[in-house]
Amino acid sequence: MALDGLTSRLEVSMAGSVLVSGGCGFIGSHLIDRLLLRADLEALVVVDNLWTGSRQNIAHIADPRLSLEIQDVESFRSDRRFDEIIHLASPASPAWFMREPARTIKANVGGALNLLPLLKPGGRFCFTSTSEVYGDPLISPQPESYRGSVDCTGPRSSYDESKRCTEALLFEAQRVEGLDIRVARLFNTYGPRTRTDDGRAISNFINQAVTTGILTVYGDGSQSRSWGYVDDIVDGLERLFWRDDLSYRGPLNIGNDNEVSVLQIARFVCSLVPGSSIEHHAPLPQDPTNRCPDLTLARRVLPGWEAKTGYQDGIERTLEWVRKEIAAVEAAPGA
Ligand code: UDP
Repeated sequence: MALDGLTSRLEVSMAGSVLVSGGCGFIGSHLIDRLLLRADLEALVVVDNLWTGSRQNIAHIADPRLSLEIQDVESFRSDRRFDEIIHLASPASPAWFMREPARTIKANVGGALNLLPLLKPGGRFCFTSTSEVYGDPLISPQPESYRGSVDCTGPRSSYDESKRCTEALLFEAQRVEGLDIRVARLFNTYGPRTRTDDGRAISNFINQAVTTGILTVYGDGSQSRSWGYVDDIVDGLERLFWRDDLSYRGPLNIGNDNEVSVLQIARFVCSLVPGSSIEHHAPLPQDPTNRCPDLTLARRVLPGWEAKTGYQDGIERTLEWVRKEIAAVEAAPGA
C-alpha cells in the first residue's frame, strides 16, 4: 500500500526536503515513486553515480520536485540541508560488490559519513542495511539480536562489513547525539527494474531463461534464501522510514519469511519458460547456506505490514516485466 493510504491512518512526519542516495537503483527507484506520492514532499534530491543504478529506472517521473545529481555519494557536496536522508547507495549483488570491494566500502561507509552533516538539526537518517550482517547464520530464522557468523576477511566482506560498520556509525550517533535513525535489514529482494546483468539469482534465472535457456545454479542448489518481492519490501520501508510513532527504530528485518531453495526457484522459472533447463556450476566461495528473517519484531513494530507476495506470483510478475523490456528494446528504432 502506498503512503497516501498510510498517511490517513498513521502519524507521519512532514517529508519536507529529502535526499535519497541510490535513487536510480532497483529498490531506490521504487522508493522514490512512493515518496513522490506525498503531498508534503517539497524537494527530492537523488544522488546516484549510475554504477549499478540506471536513469531508465526514473525516466517515467516528470515531477518538478525531483532533481538528479550524478555523483559519487561519498564525495557529494551541497549547501542544502535536508529533513530526511535515505542512504541506499551501494551495489547489492555479490557479482558487483565482489568486483569492486573498495568502491563498495566507500559507497556505504564513506557515503554515510559524507551525508550525515547534510541533515538538518532534528532530521532523520534512514539506512538500508542487509541480512548479510548475519553472514552464514548458525540459527534460523535470524532475529535482529543474532550477531551473525561473518568472516571479516572473506570474499563477501566488503559488503557485509561496510553495512555493519555503517550500522555502527548510525547507532553511535543515536546513542551519543540522539539522532533519529531508521535502519532496515533487507533480505533477498527481487522484482522489476533489476539490471539484466545484475547477477543475483532470480534476475539471472529469468534473464537466462528468456535468452540462452540455460539457468546457472551454483552448487547443488540446496542453499536457501527468503525471497521478497520489491513492492512488499518497499511497503515495509515506507512504514519504518516515515512513521513518527515508532517506539523502535531498528535494526529491523524486512523480508519475506518463506525460505525456498535456489534449486526450487530455478525449477519454477524453468516451468514458466518452456525449453529452459538447469546447469549446475561450481559453488561460490562462502555462499551462505541459508537465510530467513525472524519477522516477530517487524510485525510488532510495523503493524499491518506483511510480505504477502509468494515467490510464484512475484516471479511471474518479474518475468512479465522482463519480457516487456525486451520487446521495447526490440521495437526501438535502430534495434
Ligand atoms: N545463485 C545461483 N545462480 C545464479 C545466481 C545466484 O545459483 O545465477 C545462487 C547463489 O549462489 C546464492 C543464491 O543463489 O546461493 C542467492 O544469490 P544472490 O546473488 O541472489 O544473493 P545472495 O543472497 O547470495 O546475496
